[in-house]
Amino acid sequence: SGINFDKYENIPVEVSGDSVPAAIENFSDAGFGPAVMENVTRSGYTKPTPVQKHSIPTLLFNRDLMSCAQTGSGKTAAFLLPIIQHIMAGGPDMIKTPTFNNGRRTYYPSALVLSPTRELAIQIHKEAAKFSYKTNLQTAILYGGRENYRDQVNRLRSGVHILIATPGRLIDIIEQGFIGLSGCRYLVLDEADRMLDMGFEPQIRKIVGQGMPPKTARTTAMFSATFPKEIQLLAKDFLKENYVFLAVGRVGS
Ligand code: ADP
Ligand code: MG
Repeated sequence: SGINFDKYENIPVEVSGDSVPAAIENFSDAGFGPAVMENVTRSGYTKPTPVQKHSIPTLLFNRDLMSCAQTGSGKTAAFLLPIIQHIMAGGPDMIKTPTFNNGRRTYYPSALVLSPTRELAIQIHKEAAKFSYKTNLQTAILYGGRENYRDQVNRLRSGVHILIATPGRLIDIIEQGFIGLSGCRYLVLDEADRMLDMGFEPQIRKIVGQGMPPKTARTTAMFSATFPKEIQLLAKDFLKENYVFLAVGRVGS
């Protein structure tokens, strides 16, 4: 698999917003630390895809982002790399210490990535592990299914900086007191259109509306293949007013 660059180099890219950070041409222009840069190289990424060229500097400047791009355009690294870079550069300030209440330890991820399906969550989690290799960042995953519950909760004990989750299971784990979102500086909605198609809007609104820092105190990125009315409304509610809009290729509504 991987990217067909011949196919992607020539597709139209539309970027809009006030003072949009300049695109990068190479990963070495992003200002990543040595560990992140090594992981990019180790992953065989030699140059950024169009969505990465624009999304990486946007998120590194902590600008909110609405990005519309097709499957296979490299969206996962577009949000994971700047998040990993920021958490590492921010040091302890970026990390909220676990608390202990009623016999239960609560962990506070610095970044939350919401995914519509277990399969996509697993894919994102794999990439997150790859890009945070040889760093002290911890990643964790939460998705539905009775047999995984205890394992997933046990895995949190090594700490969690980046949490990848499907909405239903995350709400359950928050209600059980294992996860809190008050330290969450980064929120990503991956495949937002699919999440809405699957009926997750109330769950997403609940997660974002309860216990997460307000949009002015976090950086939020939304990814979607299409840009229909419902996604535009979600973007209006979740993203700061000066968000950067990025469309790669032809985007349906
Ligand atoms: P999307 O989320 O847009 O569908 P992915 O992030 O899953 O796309 O990327 C699709 C595939 O391309 C993955 O196998 C990924 O590892 C690979 N890939 C992404 N960015 C690059 C890059 N800059 N260079 C080479 N391969 C890449
Ligand atoms: Mg994807």
